[in-house]
Amino acid sequence: MTDVKPPICDYEGSDYQTKFWELGGRQYEDAVEAIALQRLLPPAGELLLELGAGAGRNTLRYAGFKQVVLLDFSLTQLEQAKQKLGRSQRYIYVAADIYNLPFVAGLFDSATMIRTLHHMADPLAALRQVRRTLKSGAIFILEYANKQNLKAILRYLAKRQAWSPFNLQSVEFEKLNYDFHPRAVSGWLMQAGFTLEKQLSVSYLRSTLLKKHVSLNLLTRLDAWLQPTGRWCQLSPSVFTRSQAIGVTAKVITGTFFSCPICKSEQLRPHGARLICVGCSRAWPIRDGIFDFRIEVD
Ligand SMILES: [Zn+2]
Repeated sequence: MTDVKPPICDYEGSDYQTKFWELGGRQYEDAVEAIALQRLLPPAGELLLELGAGAGRNTLRYAGFKQVVLLDFSLTQLEQAKQKLGRSQRYIYVAADIYNLPFVAGLFDSATMIRTLHHMADPLAALRQVRRTLKSGAIFILEYANKQNLKAILRYLAKRQAWSPFNLQSVEFEKLNYDFHPRAVSGWLMQAGFTLEKQLSVSYLRSTLLKKHVSLNLLTRLDAWLQPTGRWCQLSPSVFTRSQAIGVTAKVITGTFFSCPICKSEQLRPHGARLICVGCSRAWPIRDGIFDFRIEVD
């Protein structure tokens, strides 16, 4: 790890769930993502880590897992998720940044990260953190925004876009919003300790014109039919990948779960509405059922 911390994209106070998903005409994207997830996710499991869970849009799709940890940097997004899903043993809400994941190594048997990597200024560091929290053999579903998509290629060839969709360099199209090249992502996955098993090309039909003139049902079915072409080439704006964690992971000591993001101690003792780190004495607040491990805030 370097001392310079990558910046974090914070959705605090954002109406992203309502504005983007519920009122933004994204039913097509939501429907085809559900299909991709179903195709890649193991049908059952013990403990799943949902990275960038937001307001819990996808969480109900993990019904086969006994427990789900919803992780997001934004407390307000997690509040919305909690309102939607309720408080139960089944869901654990955690506010933390991905570069400092507050879990012991090898804890999870699956993880998902959807529409989240595109906010990472240092994707490799983020993926290394994810790998650390997974058991060996765990399944990791990663979605990313693909810079080598048909629209970008056509714009580039028509000289309406300066950057090349073909090279491995990331494109920051808005502050802390990146598009990545498929080969760059598969390289990072490998370096982080994953084997890429499957790829699906998703959202090929993402176009206002198509959404206006073709029924949602037909668009969704066509997309489902096109997704498997991701095995050979990825030219869609969104790519779903399924990887397996390889290599050795330390065995989790029974009873441990969280680890202090500052001193890495695995002993955190509950004390009122806080967890007190035995290693560095830092108190990590539990805010109305949400474990808050963000370092910058009080
Ligand atoms: Zn500590």
